[in-house]
Amino acid sequence: MNDRRIRNIAIVGGGTAGWMAAASLAKSLQGLSIQIRLVESAHIGTVGVGEATIPPIMDFIRQLGIAEDDLVRDVKATYKLGIGYRDWTRPGHFYFHPFGPTGPGIGNIPFQAYWLKMFLEGRAAPLEDYSIQAMAAIRGRFAKPVHAPNTPLNKISYALHFDASRFAQYLREFAVGLGVQRTVGEVRGVALNDHSGYVESVTLASGESVAADLFIDCSGFRGLLIEEALHTGYEDWSSWLPCDRALVVHSEPATAPAPYTLVTAREAGWQWRIPLQHRNGNGYVYGSEFIADDRARDTLLTNLDGRQLSEPMTLRFAPGRRRKAWSRNVVALGLAAGFLEPLEATGIYLIQRGIAMLLRFFPDRDFAVADIERYNRVLESEFQRVRDFLLLHYTQTERGGAFWEHCRSIPLTDTLLEKIELFRSHGRILREETELFPVLSWLCVMIGQNIIPRRYDPLVDGLEQAKISARLQELRSGIERSVESMPGHWDFIQAAHARQI
Ligand SMILES: Cc1cc2nc3c(=O)[nH]c(=O)nc-3n(C[C@H](O)[C@H](O)[C@H](O)COP(=O)(O)OP(=O)(O)OC[C@H]3O[C@@H](n4cnc5c(N)ncnc54)[C@H](O)[C@@H]3O)c2cc1C
Repeated sequence: MNDRRIRNIAIVGGGTAGWMAAASLAKSLQGLSIQIRLVESAHIGTVGVGEATIPPIMDFIRQLGIAEDDLVRDVKATYKLGIGYRDWTRPGHFYFHPFGPTGPGIGNIPFQAYWLKMFLEGRAAPLEDYSIQAMAAIRGRFAKPVHAPNTPLNKISYALHFDASRFAQYLREFAVGLGVQRTVGEVRGVALNDHSGYVESVTLASGESVAADLFIDCSGFRGLLIEEALHTGYEDWSSWLPCDRALVVHSEPATAPAPYTLVTAREAGWQWRIPLQHRNGNGYVYGSEFIADDRARDTLLTNLDGRQLSEPMTLRFAPGRRRKAWSRNVVALGLAAGFLEPLEATGIYLIQRGIAMLLRFFPDRDFAVADIERYNRVLESEFQRVRDFLLLHYTQTERGGAFWEHCRSIPLTDTLLEKIELFRSHGRILREETELFPVLSWLCVMIGQNIIPRRYDPLVDGLEQAKISARLQELRSGIERSVESMPGHWDFIQAAHARQI
């Protein structure tokens, strides 16, 4: 039988997406004699942002076999337990979106159902009190989960904040160590097969031609292969997502960095603060129709916690996704596959998911249509779910001003509308099996943004009130005790460094 195996892969682009793909493919395809080559330009920069992550990144790191403490030290990381939303629902308001699962159910009654009954009757504490992540984050504490039964400490779910450029460099060394060939050069041309339309090779400025069976397009927003060569098309989602610009600046680090991303709503968007060991990352994401660039810049610079350390950099983007993330023999990852703004830090996750799905449907040189179509459907659905979650944040607020009024007029997608209606009627949370955001995320954001159900789940009335009160009290005090036993976040990081010396 004809050998149709993939013999070589070319990755175009050496940003976060390119090096994540190189590292992961090199690790997963070991033993298959597939050559992997990554081409990156020395002149065309990376976006250099993408510094907040969500818990699946920890699986990515573990699957590569990277020592977490080593990475944390190298990429100047801090730990992240969730996102604090300041002034988002309305000025002066604060709510927390923590990682992790909800509290345990009572019999077959889930936590959110019995908590909601007590909440509607004014007898439950705020949701933050029932999440170890939220309470620890707000108090500046951190610890990794412990393997012990019956303690909230075994359920701690966390992610990282890291220096994006250092992360890409770390993965570069890792990938090169596994045999990935790195070529510094600029792609100037793409050669397609006359008959199939597949990409045969890319030509570099030096004149060298790089041929491969499979190409991974990690060239950033422009999508050098997937769009400029294959004209795959882009679905513009700006009718749903109102921001199209970001200003990014670094500032002096805090003395005790918080273990969460702080998001503060502004006149025409929102500002992030991402604490790293050596600096804070800050950005103002805004809708350019609603504020002049100069005014956005002033807002960002006057609202830094520490001294400004860099000149603000402007990034323009069109929210949306490539119609097909995989077309012919090209798979696009990262910004080449689409971009949903960073409010919930999902960019790196979507890269990770793209890589995982590529491995799941790894092709041979026949490139089976069924595999490609399935891959595209999975990625489409991932993008749509993230979009819905973002849309929930923007449309359900009480803030004034042209930008926020515009947000409230954005038509909801049918899928989000159903989620909100189910919640409003009886506090039910519809979550598809493979959906990224867990029940706790939807619960905290919906309650945090003042979507209050009209009624609670009637099945909760089968539980004795005293039993629910006792369970809530037990949960809360268990979390309280656990958080008290956790070290300060910064102390935890320093102790981990000390252990490595
Ligand atoms: C404002 C903003 C904030 C963000 N915040 C977050 C966040 O907090 N969390 C998160 O998960 N994600 C975030 N993201 C998304 C995240 O930054 C990206 O998903 C991630 O950096 C991947 O970028 P990339 O590698 O696809 O593209 P890039 O970083 O743009 O890299 C493109 C690469 O292609 C190369 N290249 C381009 N053209 C050529 C050529 N002709 N020849 C050779 N090489 C070429 C470049 O040299 C570069 O190496 C954010 C994005 C933005 C815009």
